[in-house]
Amino acid sequence: METNTLAQPEAQSASPEHFDVLIVGAGISGIGGAYHLTKQRPQTSFVVLEALESFGGTWLSHQYPGIRSDSDLYTFGYRFKPWVGPPIATAAEILTYMDEVIEENDLGRHVRYGHKITKAVWSSQTNLWTITAVRAEDGATRTFTTNFLWMCQGYYRQLDGYTPEWEGMDSFKGQIVHPQNWPKDLDYKGKRVIVIGSGATAATLVPAIAGDCQHVTLLQRSPTYFIPGRNENELADTLRTLQIDETWIHEIVRRKVLHDQAEFTRRSIEESEVVRGELLEGVKAFLGPDFDIAKHFTPSYRPWRQRIAFVPDGDLFQGINAGKATVVTDHIDRFTEKGILLKSGETLEADIIISATGFKLNVLGDIAFEIDGKPLNFADTVTYRGMMFTGVPNMIWVFGYFRASWTLRADLISDFVCRLLKHMEDKGVHKVVPTLRPEDKDMPLSGWIDPENFNPGYLMRGMHLLPRRGDKPEWQHTQDYWAEKDEIPAINLDDPAFSYA
Ligand SMILES: Cc1cc2nc3c(=O)[nH]c(=O)nc-3n(C[C@H](O)[C@H](O)[C@H](O)COP(=O)(O)OP(=O)(O)OC[C@H]3O[C@@H](n4cnc5c(N)ncnc54)[C@H](O)[C@@H]3O)c2cc1C
Repeated sequence: METNTLAQPEAQSASPEHFDVLIVGAGISGIGGAYHLTKQRPQTSFVVLEALESFGGTWLSHQYPGIRSDSDLYTFGYRFKPWVGPPIATAAEILTYMDEVIEENDLGRHVRYGHKITKAVWSSQTNLWTITAVRAEDGATRTFTTNFLWMCQGYYRQLDGYTPEWEGMDSFKGQIVHPQNWPKDLDYKGKRVIVIGSGATAATLVPAIAGDCQHVTLLQRSPTYFIPGRNENELADTLRTLQIDETWIHEIVRRKVLHDQAEFTRRSIEESEVVRGELLEGVKAFLGPDFDIAKHFTPSYRPWRQRIAFVPDGDLFQGINAGKATVVTDHIDRFTEKGILLKSGETLEADIIISATGFKLNVLGDIAFEIDGKPLNFADTVTYRGMMFTGVPNMIWVFGYFRASWTLRADLISDFVCRLLKHMEDKGVHKVVPTLRPEDKDMPLSGWIDPENFNPGYLMRGMHLLPRRGDKPEWQHTQDYWAEKDEIPAINLDDPAFSYA
């Protein structure tokens, strides 16, 4: 793997272009991977193929009003590039940050936009992946070969959100919109809007549009925890006052955020009732003693079983206080011509209904994988620490954290890939395949992730399509940053769980 080809526009010949590494996706993970490769393995040739017309992934495809992060950017930002803005950032701010990373490190020349990968075929004869991509501008098919496939394609379909099938949807005379397909010209001014959902998207959208709508109703089946607070980081602000270097501030604030999160996670498990009380008090402070917090903002599960959204400056609750937004906790019976009939018998009338109801899982980029002539079903594989799969050679998947920032894992996995590539080079091998060891052969297998640990709807709906996990640390996808930050760098690459050839 020692060529130094750059991702120049391809020649017009039909023969495949070759790269040592091929990264799928130019979101925060793919651009991070590209950065680490250039720094840690400058001799490795690579290309990033991205289906969309620009970088950003999530932050490019989501265009609804108010779109912003729900975790802090000191940890969602890369470890190598200081974040200097407020902790909760808009999509536009994140794209600017990523743009700077690309510019400062001259990564743009490695990325090909408008290339949607449709097929990936592994041959054990050549020890290469052959990748087929369809070019958006002319529909032409392009082929690439690569030694190593780095899957940074995220976990959901960018342009195709999940909306449940409700009875009577066809009869509704107004407009039904999913936030992932937000029409640029959607006119909600002076309209009655229902936002269905209780997650971060709904909590972001409601305050962003409430000022312009006649009224917004947040319709949720069940409540979610929120953490309202000021969109600032006191420690960062203090350090700035002391004129500390931004690189230091970034590192110190990351450590503090991660320390506080570890403590919060521990307490959520060990003292869940106390933490629950604190979270509810936070909401009560905004909504006052008369608001029915028990009904609308008290989840039935313990804190942290689902992602908790930060609500900057309590803007969601301010909209409720101002009378511009209402929360309704009920079940949908069916849609009607004028709106939604609830199971309680109440009717909500609307001009626009927004279904902030989640994602459709995208399993490994919806790419048709084949290994030595056989179609690959990922559900037949067992995951190696949530990043590689038994029987699947030379491939890594970046699936970040949910309770901590996604990018923390993307950075950790980047280091792992660079280390693995070096190890293979040192050994003079061309193929690495995670393989169950003799002691693993009879271990019980279960779904990709433990639903007791984490259970968002899109994962539960798609669990049967995902690789399985075993009962030993190597074969689990723990989602535990605080363990993995030490475990991943310490992985023994000569463990028999890796077969080389
Ligand atoms: C509204 C919203 C807010 C979020 N907020 C946070 C947050 O605050 N903190 C946090 O940690 N996480 C957050 N997340 C989760 C977030 O998606 C991840 O943190 C992160 O952005 C994922 O980055 P990624 O690069 O891995 O994947 P993505 O951002 O999904 O990017 C994947 C890229 O791969 C491309 N791709 C996919 N398939 C193919 C293919 N076959 N061929 C070519 N290209 C392909 C896609 O077009 C896309 O550009 C949020 C998610 C959403 C939807």
